[in-house]
Amino acid sequence: MIIVKSAQTELREVKLFINGEYVESSNKSIFDIKNPATQEVIAHTHEATFEDVDHACKAARHAFEEGPWRTMSLADRCEKIRRMAEIIMERKEELARLEAMDVGKPYPVALEKEIPRAANNLKFYADFMEKQGGEVYPMGEEYLNYTRYEPVGVAALITPWNLPFMLTTWKLGPCLATGNTAVIKPAETTPLTVSLLGEIAKEAGIPDGVVNVVQGFGPDSAGEFMTTHPEVDLVSFTGETSTGKAIMKSGADSLKKVSFELGGKAANIIFDDANLDKAIPESIQAAFLNSGQVCLAGSRILVQRSILDEFIEKFKRVASELNVGDPQDSSTNMGPVVSEEHYGKVTSYLEIAKEENSTLIYGGKRPDLDEYLKNGYYLEPTIYLQENPNARICREEIFGPIVTVIPFDTEEEALEIANNTDYGLNGVVWTDNLQRAHRISHNVRAGTIWVNCWFVRDLRAPFGGFKKSGVGREGGHHSLEFFTEAKNICIALK
Ligand code: NAD
Repeated sequence: MIIVKSAQTELREVKLFINGEYVESSNKSIFDIKNPATQEVIAHTHEATFEDVDHACKAARHAFEEGPWRTMSLADRCEKIRRMAEIIMERKEELARLEAMDVGKPYPVALEKEIPRAANNLKFYADFMEKQGGEVYPMGEEYLNYTRYEPVGVAALITPWNLPFMLTTWKLGPCLATGNTAVIKPAETTPLTVSLLGEIAKEAGIPDGVVNVVQGFGPDSAGEFMTTHPEVDLVSFTGETSTGKAIMKSGADSLKKVSFELGGKAANIIFDDANLDKAIPESIQAAFLNSGQVCLAGSRILVQRSILDEFIEKFKRVASELNVGDPQDSSTNMGPVVSEEHYGKVTSYLEIAKEENSTLIYGGKRPDLDEYLKNGYYLEPTIYLQENPNARICREEIFGPIVTVIPFDTEEEALEIANNTDYGLNGVVWTDNLQRAHRISHNVRAGTIWVNCWFVRDLRAPFGGFKKSGVGREGGHHSLEFFTEAKNICIALK
């Protein structure tokens, strides 16, 4: 079923949401948003000037200091956050359609997975916050210590384009539940769904100034204005490792608290005792979900040499069955990549792979598609075989539908290859050997390890990266700690 063909979309205007209302850019600066499946302009977005960001940060500060948000009862605050989650679910078809159009991801993935998860991010943190206790340390009969977790203040929430709505709510949930106020900036390529968080928050009864959404770019634009703004106390950022470094430098003068979720280049390790009937379809997901534009993608597939031929033959067959096409068509498994610029980066690795003598197993070119998709940023699911784990396609984050199969002989060799990267976000291992599963899990230097599964996680569990994949952890109490300051109160009892 095609919801509405990608070529038939209406033009939208995306404004800034500041202090409870949608406003235009103060210098009327506008930039275009294109549908990556067609290159058709689908929105005009207002770019926030320094003045606009300043206005948003001051509104958030005022709402934090003076407004009722921080001081209202926890039950009332959490009720409003849960109401946001309900409104998201009431509007899930609309949000999923916009997300599919903006990012180029298949509509069913947005509808069935990402938008419900976004609603759940808010509900989960409202529920979780209400269950929190505290610490009490009596000092005999003389003194009593107890701890309060107080909101930090104004949070800058900056997110990437691959999972715009889901990742923004993943930050907004704990930010609001702990009583902070927020200035949000989605990626400049994908502003559509996140811009609606303003009206959703307002309808849910969240006071003006608590949730602000600005639009724009990174350096010398809204992103940098936020991370250097004196009213911003903390920055929660998800995006590229290089951007994390730039933000850390720019926030240093004002000593902002930072939490970074950055890039990845996960090893997906397949031993010869693995159940291939499960490992292959899940590895296909890990490789090509969202056109491979997933930080947790299993883009380095380490395969034990004794099953290399069998694995390649089966993996290639399943990849060839993926339906590449219009994101709005519910039979589509894979859409385009997000933008012209990103398409240029992703396809440059086809040349790099050739120069490095990688063997092309499948893909490597534009698929044949309907005429109306002829300008879309499409690439077939692409698989290389590369013996040299130091090759660039084995070490650098491509963030597109290109994966590399790397053969190995022993467990030691697999571990060495898995750790041969600056990244450490996650890893995956497929084996029926319990001891080996534990050994690999303990020795791969990454924040999440999946054993015989991928992309599953309890939201209470820590999430984040080792090495250049991040600073700090999100999830469960880890996020609550980031968004709060712990205060000890010591009372003399006599
Ligand atoms: P990006 O770093 O280019 O941009 C992310 C956001 O930062 C955007 O909103 C952008 O406008 C803003 N930005 C850019 N420069 C800035 C600056 N100097 N100051 C302030 N803000 C700035 O990332 P992207 O290309 O949008 O996203 C892809 C990257 O995100 C990949 O590396 C991917 O691995 C990573 N990612 C990580 C996770 C995770 O949880 N670890 C999740 C999703 C994506």
